[in-house]
Amino acid sequence: MNELCPSCGLPFSREEGYFTGAMYISYTLAVAGIAAIAALLYLTVASRWSLTAVLAAASVLFTPLVPASFRFARVLWIHIDRTLEP
Ligand SMILES: [Zn+2]
Repeated sequence: MNELCPSCGLPFSREEGYFTGAMYISYTLAVAGIAAIAALLYLTVASRWSLTAVLAAASVLFTPLVPASFRFARVLWIHIDRTLEP
């Protein structure tokens, strides 16, 4: 990750452990994404599967989205932090 934004010069890491809060956002995004995929699976092809099987399949299908979710969580964290403490 860049230390400064190449466009505006904003320092991304303001202090040690700055992005710890982004982990909570990332977790929330993952839970929401897996729940959405599980619901979609259940409504389409997996209506007779057990809940465990549906959640396992949804987790596997969500795995390729983890890098995007990780970065999006950091972006959201920076926006929340800049809004609350400019
Ligand atoms: Zn910028």
